Amino acid sequence: MQIWDQHVHSEFSEDAFCSMTDMALAEAEAGMSGVCFTDHCELEHYDTGLENPDCWRPDRLFLGFAEAKKAVGDRIALRLGAELGGGNHLPERAEEIGRSGLDFIIGSVHNLRGMPDFFMGTAGLPMYSSEEACYELLSKYIEEYMEVARLGAVDVLGHIGYPLRYMKKMGVDISLQPLREPLAALLKTAIENGKGIELNTSGYRRGLGEPMPAPFLLKVYRELGGEIITVGSDAHSPEEAGADVRKGLILLKELGYKYYCAFSNRKPEFIRLEL
Ligand SMILES: [Zn+2]
Ligand SMILES: [Zn+2]
Repeated sequence: MQIWDQHVHSEFSEDAFCSMTDMALAEAEAGMSGVCFTDHCELEHYDTGLENPDCWRPDRLFLGFAEAKKAVGDRIALRLGAELGGGNHLPERAEEIGRSGLDFIIGSVHNLRGMPDFFMGTAGLPMYSSEEACYELLSKYIEEYMEVARLGAVDVLGHIGYPLRYMKKMGVDISLQPLREPLAALLKTAIENGKGIELNTSGYRRGLGEPMPAPFLLKVYRELGGEIITVGSDAHSPEEAGADVRKGLILLKELGYKYYCAFSNRKPEFIRLEL
């Protein structure tokens, strides 16, 4: 069975420093058949605390990808995508990215309109002061994802539940269960708009102990008739290459999924889950 890691960062992201070639070789070493690079494409400057939040440079990206393809040869299949942030804040710009010749686009909400990245709540901002405040943020988060689910430039919704990682770090350990209804409405909207979701395995190793979204939501998505689902490690370094991708695929099978997807040219290819 082909095993694809479809959420991977390289030096073309502001928070990763590994060349695409080295990352691809590490992914091959980890047993992956293919990898789709999804470097950050954040459409707006916001207070990330990083030096260069806007390092999306398509010319360099396509060149780097061509070099990696040449260097890696047939050791692993490579595709080029993006993790689009702020797409719902700047939809016209998002559609331009959608037309730029990428294989796959993950739509992520890293920050709410006019607010910094959720991880900044761990850097002294009073975002996670109480359970009530956190649920309020999460409701707004779901509302913004509703907008992302309607963007033509987006193929799958990225790591649903991402703020929980930082809420937990700040001592507010809450579940998405009370938000089941609005989340189900979001997943339904995604399905109606031909969008998929991703199972992001970084939750396993970054403090949540489970993937994003949580298994109960993966189940809701399937029960609603959702079929387009990708799996990604969200690796930012070679040590994380392919991390828990196999575990994620096994979980999908346990939840009753028969297929998962790898994207090429913005179209899902369905791969039968044989594990
Ligand atoms: Zn992300
Ligand atoms: Zn990512």
